[in-house]
Amino acid sequence: MHDHRSSAWNSSLNTPSPPRVAVVGGGIGGLACARELRLRGCDPVVFEAEDRLGGRCSSRSTRVGLFDDGAQCISGASRLAIHVAQPPGELAALHPWTVAATPTEEERNSKAWKQDEDEADVTRTLKLTGSVGVPSMAALADALARPLHIRLNTPIVQARRRAASWALSSAVGEIEEDFQALVLAMPAPLAVPLARESSELTAALRAVRYRSRWVLLLGTERPVPLPGYREFQGSPIERVAAMHSKPGRLAIGPQRWFVEAGGRWSSQHEDVDAETVADLLLENFRAHAGRPVTPNYLRAQQWRHAFVETPAAPPRRSECLWDDSVRLGVCGDSVVASQVDRVHSSGVAMARVVAEGLSRHSGLHSFSASKRDLGQLLEAHL
Ligand SMILES: Cc1cc2nc3c(=O)[nH]c(=O)nc-3n(C[C@H](O)[C@H](O)[C@H](O)COP(=O)(O)OP(=O)(O)OC[C@H]3O[C@@H](n4cnc5c(N)ncnc54)[C@H](O)[C@@H]3O)c2cc1C
Repeated sequence: MHDHRSSAWNSSLNTPSPPRVAVVGGGIGGLACARELRLRGCDPVVFEAEDRLGGRCSSRSTRVGLFDDGAQCISGASRLAIHVAQPPGELAALHPWTVAATPTEEERNSKAWKQDEDEADVTRTLKLTGSVGVPSMAALADALARPLHIRLNTPIVQARRRAASWALSSAVGEIEEDFQALVLAMPAPLAVPLARESSELTAALRAVRYRSRWVLLLGTERPVPLPGYREFQGSPIERVAAMHSKPGRLAIGPQRWFVEAGGRWSSQHEDVDAETVADLLLENFRAHAGRPVTPNYLRAQQWRHAFVETPAAPPRRSECLWDDSVRLGVCGDSVVASQVDRVHSSGVAMARVVAEGLSRHSGLHSFSASKRDLGQLLEAHL
């Protein structure tokens, strides 16, 4: 689906072919890495197990509309905005999200709020939550992937060294290509079996701990009096986000709520079935809404490797891991933190380390592109 091969290298370069790099994982970390590798003169191929890109920065299409079912908003700054820049005339893929800060009952009764209300000013109640993908969080992965070679539905089950290269096998057999370097961009527990050739990286990955998380996707026919984004303390529910209040989403019709359970509650209910979890979270949502809520869509979903608890310790000032002896790298939230902007930076940092590592092995700059080629490459990226 996403196999957009640019002819820039083949048509104009007289230099040796660019080094091929396999990137396993089509989440934001893997895509950022592949995107940056291309800018650095490599030829990356992204292998993704699922039929969609984005990993935990994803969206689910349902009969009541789209839900962002993983990451909700991006609060940090990174080069993501540059990477997902769209061609002129197309809607921006990343957009600020402001929500009306509806007061809680407690706030409404407070003296300070009453004073503010006397000087009512609509804009004062708007709050910037962060940035979101448009028309969904999945749009970010799609924008990153635009110029890349992507193989969907390709779970990599084995990675081994053959001479000076990497050979990969997917669930349906061996992949008939060799790669000069391999990058693992997925949660550490899934990466361990593919990192066997490096005892150092295997040990680092084994030390990484993740926590699971329950989320509820809830459609309601009637409006619910909660702000578009709210975090809660000391409750089974940690935060809610209204899909219909995000930019680029359909604001009319049934409301769509993303409801995220807290970390401790999710751990305590790790082995509970999805139906029971949905009922429990709905009950708590009703309590926050302060009125009956009749769902027209209800789905509880568990993310097994949702948030990293203890990331791997990278070398000082680094955001990724690299074993130069076998040309194997690890990036994503296994190494940094479970935040889209941090994961994106990790992928970009990984690309730099891989390109430098390959330069050392193959003679400095032997695959760097000329100015003209870079111009063509940039055109292909836009
Ligand atoms: C419920 C939830 C809410 C969140 N909210 C926020 C938020 O509001 N803001 C924020 O900044 N962050 C948030 N995060 C965290 C953020 O989504 C993640 O940290 C980030 O998306 C991780 O990116 P990644 O590329 O490292 O990994 P992933 O997104 O997990 O990508 C890894 C990819 O690798 C693929 N894969 C796995 N194994 C294989 C294999 N063997 N072969 C091929 N492919 C494979 C997976 O299918 C997946 O697509 C949230 C996460 C969750 C779960």
